[in-house]
Amino acid sequence: MALIDLKSLDKASLEEFVKKERLPAFRARQLIHWIYEKNVTGVGDITEFSKPLREKLAGKARISGLAVKKRFASEDGTEKYLLELEDGNQVECVLIGTEAPPGEEDGSREKFTLCVSSQVGCAMGCRFCLTGEMGFIRDLRPHEIVEQALCVQRLIQPRKITNIVFMGMGEPLNNLANVAEALRRLTEFMRFSGRRITLSTSGIVPGILELPRSAPSVNLAVSLNATTDEVRSRIMPVNRKYGLAALLKALRQFPLSGRSRITFEYVLLGGVNDSDEDAARLIKLLRGLPAKVNLIPFNAHEGAGFSAPSPERVLAFQKILTDARMTAFIRKSKGTDILAACGQLKAAYM
Ligand code: SAH
Ligand code: SF4
Repeated sequence: MALIDLKSLDKASLEEFVKKERLPAFRARQLIHWIYEKNVTGVGDITEFSKPLREKLAGKARISGLAVKKRFASEDGTEKYLLELEDGNQVECVLIGTEAPPGEEDGSREKFTLCVSSQVGCAMGCRFCLTGEMGFIRDLRPHEIVEQALCVQRLIQPRKITNIVFMGMGEPLNNLANVAEALRRLTEFMRFSGRRITLSTSGIVPGILELPRSAPSVNLAVSLNATTDEVRSRIMPVNRKYGLAALLKALRQFPLSGRSRITFEYVLLGGVNDSDEDAARLIKLLRGLPAKVNLIPFNAHEGAGFSAPSPERVLAFQKILTDARMTAFIRKSKGTDILAACGQLKAAYM
């Protein structure tokens, strides 16, 4: 009989499993604790269980994991992991370290952000994105998303992942049920604060409207990337279905708690969406929305047909926004030397 993968079970199914094995209900809680907090990879490692119980369980169940195929380290400290799923497909995730501010180098303010994938490939076909170029292969299941965090956490001890962003391969809102279950496990089982998790979408309006119900506590980021429907539809086909007006309307309805804001990612493509007029339109579009803009100079890849704007252009674009009292950061891409930067995740299939 095939072993049951305990990691593939949600809370109710784990409880069901424990019941079927005629074990007391608290064993389900213990399993969750050992799998998601102690991060064990085998039933035999659950030392809180007696040896006979571990042996009994080992005959019935297992704890799946992802195989680390490759670990790339960038000169700037960014690390990329190529992880193999049990069916042989591969996904990438990226760990980006941010140093503590001067004077606080004791490690307590150091940030390690893990960028996770939600799908193998992506169906959205954004013209500037390598993941889009590879097309859609399949959705990741909840445990395959959570395992990216568990697996990298095992590798980087004693450092700790402090933040998680759904900005790897895939469109998370196209896989919302699985992503929502993964978020439940990250927050409830691994005790990750939802405030430290950000989900990024290309702008699937029904998903944005549904998100507060399925994943109430996470932050939202939107890849806006253009200020007119004409340009946005050209570079992001999703805009033909959900145009700027519908997208911004949904975002204005999005419930935000207290101090939180929506992050807008804006990939700057030289001569396409980086003019002074674009900056002015962006200010108008986002007026009244609690927003933060991340400007990402395009990461070039072969055959994309776009180029990055000059550093002066990027600064000028930012200045127009900040002069209008908007929060706008320039995101210097990290890990470009290992193809770990935004829009470069496809290496596994090249
Ligand atoms: N599919 C989701 C999550 C992926 S996030 C989304 O699109 O939001 C990936 C981010 O990288 C997006 O903001 C996207 O606009 C950006 N990106 C894609 N290709 C890029 C490139 N070549 N250079 C810079 N940023 C890129
Ligand atoms: Fe998919 Fe996001 Fe890339 Fe667009 S930018 S193709 S939605 S991963």
